[in-house]
Amino acid sequence: MKLRICHLYPDLMNLYGDRGNVLALRRRAEWHGLDAEVVEVSLEAKVELARYDILFMGGGQDKEQRLICADFKKVKGSSLREAVEDGIPFLAVCGGYQLLGSYYRISRKEVLEGLGILDVYTKAGTKRMIGNTVIISELFSQPRTLVGFENHSGKTYLGPRVKPLGTVVLGFGNNGKDRTEGAVYRNTIGTYLHGPLLPKNPWFTDWLISKALERRYGKGLSGCSRIGHAEDLEERAHKAVLGLVMKRAKRTMTSSCLPEFRSYSQRTPHPGLS
Ligand code: GLN
Repeated sequence: MKLRICHLYPDLMNLYGDRGNVLALRRRAEWHGLDAEVVEVSLEAKVELARYDILFMGGGQDKEQRLICADFKKVKGSSLREAVEDGIPFLAVCGGYQLLGSYYRISRKEVLEGLGILDVYTKAGTKRMIGNTVIISELFSQPRTLVGFENHSGKTYLGPRVKPLGTVVLGFGNNGKDRTEGAVYRNTIGTYLHGPLLPKNPWFTDWLISKALERRYGKGLSGCSRIGHAEDLEERAHKAVLGLVMKRAKRTMTSSCLPEFRSYSQRTPHPGLS
């Protein structure tokens, strides 16, 4: 079985190792015994995106976002909408996430119109939200932590037609206020988590691969996974990062997040983390 991964605008949208997400998708797909092919698609290329199995778009600054916004309008908007409605797994990070919403207000004078695929909108804030992030996500068959790194000034607010990707335990998330992080519509996920995200959160990588297999072949990963061994390196990477980040955070944390994290770690124990 083969998976075709489309990396959108890799030359423009690639902050804090976003490209590593594509490497992780490819490698993990191979570990599962699948063939994986990566195709890079940038400005002006007119492509039928629904033909691919997974879409990925990384983050970028306002300058790059302007170019992409114009390309969405002129070239790829309808193809992208069609692919999302068809259920393609699509991961968009930070600047990419913002452009899937209805708009991104950069300043009083400038608004970038988004695709409106995700029922969210974003307004630039005055303070950058930077740092390590931990969220608890219910996207998977059991609640899972996701670890990442965020750096954005845009504050994103969710409408009723999306669900958050998770609840913030540490960090800022969508807007630093409501403790939501990311947005989910069909199999499209927008998130502020850079990192790269996928190598440190293997259940997320597998979720994307599994959704892709279901859409293309009618059956998800459980039937064909070859990563059965306990010594999953990426799980260990997740635990190591989570442990480090939480240990540091607990020293300074005054927020209401710790009880939530404690109850989570009781339900899903992580060695050395209760
Ligand atoms: N320009 C956006 C912001 O700062 C996106 C930044 C990013 O992709 N890291 O909000």
